[in-house]
Amino acid sequence: MKKIIVIGAGIAGLQAAKVLAEKGNDVTVYERSKQGKVSYNWRDDVEYTVFDELNLPIPSDSIRTQNVAFLAPYSDKPLFVYQEESKMEWGVERHTFADMLANRAIDAGAKVVYETAVESLIISDEVVKGVVVNGEEIFADLVIDCSGMDSKFRASLPASMGITATPNDDEAFTVYRAIFDKKPGVPDPDQKNKRLIHLKPEGMLGISWCVVEPDDSVNVLVGKIGGLTDKDVEENLKLLREQHPIIGDNVTRGGIYARIPIRYPLLKMVGDGYVAIGDAAFMTIPLIGSGIACGLRAGQMLGEEINAQDSTDISVLWKYQVRYYQNVAKEHFLIDCMKRKVLVADCYDVKYVIESGFITEDDIKALTGGEGFKITGKELCKKLRLAMKKLPFILSVVGALLKGVGAMGKASKIPTEYDEKKIDKWVKKVEKVFAK
Ligand SMILES: Cc1cc2nc3c(=O)[nH]c(=O)nc-3n(C[C@H](O)[C@H](O)[C@H](O)COP(=O)(O)OP(=O)(O)OC[C@H]3O[C@@H](n4cnc5c(N)ncnc54)[C@H](O)[C@@H]3O)c2cc1C
Repeated sequence: MKKIIVIGAGIAGLQAAKVLAEKGNDVTVYERSKQGKVSYNWRDDVEYTVFDELNLPIPSDSIRTQNVAFLAPYSDKPLFVYQEESKMEWGVERHTFADMLANRAIDAGAKVVYETAVESLIISDEVVKGVVVNGEEIFADLVIDCSGMDSKFRASLPASMGITATPNDDEAFTVYRAIFDKKPGVPDPDQKNKRLIHLKPEGMLGISWCVVEPDDSVNVLVGKIGGLTDKDVEENLKLLREQHPIIGDNVTRGGIYARIPIRYPLLKMVGDGYVAIGDAAFMTIPLIGSGIACGLRAGQMLGEEINAQDSTDISVLWKYQVRYYQNVAKEHFLIDCMKRKVLVADCYDVKYVIESGFITEDDIKALTGGEGFKITGKELCKKLRLAMKKLPFILSVVGALLKGVGAMGKASKIPTEYDEKKIDKWVKKVEKVFAK
């Protein structure tokens, strides 16, 4: 039996806590928020397959998400992407979900201590030995850091562990999100405009959206790579209101700023006595920012690997990282390379690829639906003809794609056994791809 501390009642940490407690480990989760108030006061979309995969019930206040449309900058022709209802994600209430995961961990034997912030890590001889809570030292075999992307604990680790302390500015997405009421007397937009994502609105390095939810609320987001100022939000909200008169005057939920990692996952997520998981390990999908399903899968895998060996030794933790990389993370390296290209793309190039039909509804569906990309000879000819008009841009996108495939290949060559020299060499090789 191992003594394990989880910092933060995030989804990944709670899933790990449940799996570890089921095997009889002594697990304590410390969460600084109040019970019932953990995470955000809104719904987020969760991949539908993860519920069956991890035998998780879908919370009863969840809703099926709707079809989405993308609008290029300076364009009024959205690209609508229709998805079969059975393949749509679940919009899950974050407070309900956090409570459900915590109750499952508690039922399995874990302790969840709310309104208690972990102050710091105990580190001695370059090994994490425990945490400090309320001024008291609590020793453990393993500390699972699930405290979010700006984890101060990750940043306090000794450099010798080789775990990246902080993300770069262009690796974080800052968002303002608010749920508004509906403006009385304004009719609902048609089905194709209910869930509209504005790409690079007014040239801003980011997105904004307006989603008219089935529960009669209007979900609004303004997000930018790096810092987002009050002025950015004010200007974008003004624009959104002009385009979407349905946005009411009152914020009913949210109305807060938050940060999302949008980069490849940590190349080293584990150290002696320490694991970063969830956003603390940058497990979100770059470009998209979804991290719930990835975190849940990571929590499950971490728990299973420790249980299987009844050990929290670094070699066991590394096996977990390898499993996570092979099953979930490696594709994120390709997406990250594409993200870095999209960021610098000219607004009119983005407008062209969407409005001209170079990217179609079927392309986006194939890519986001996980069904793979198929193309007929006729479609390929059409794409080539359209590409000729924006050749330098299209070639640079192809270049980014090839670089991404290379990055994915390097990431999947992760050393399968814990060997510091081999791991350092691998880390350097992958970092080199992104340094260029
Ligand atoms: C606006 C927005 C929209 C998003 N939409 C989606 C979406 O649709 N789908 C999706 O999959 N993902 C989405 N995400 C990303 C998703 O929210 C994260 O990937 C996910 O919450 C990561 O979970 P986590 O457990 O790693 O960290 P967090 O959710 O950040 O949880 C960290 C926890 O640690 C606690 N904590 C921090 N410091 C301490 C401390 N010192 N002591 C004790 N507790 C501490 C915090 O209170 C918090 O509860 C979105 C994020 C944002 C901001």
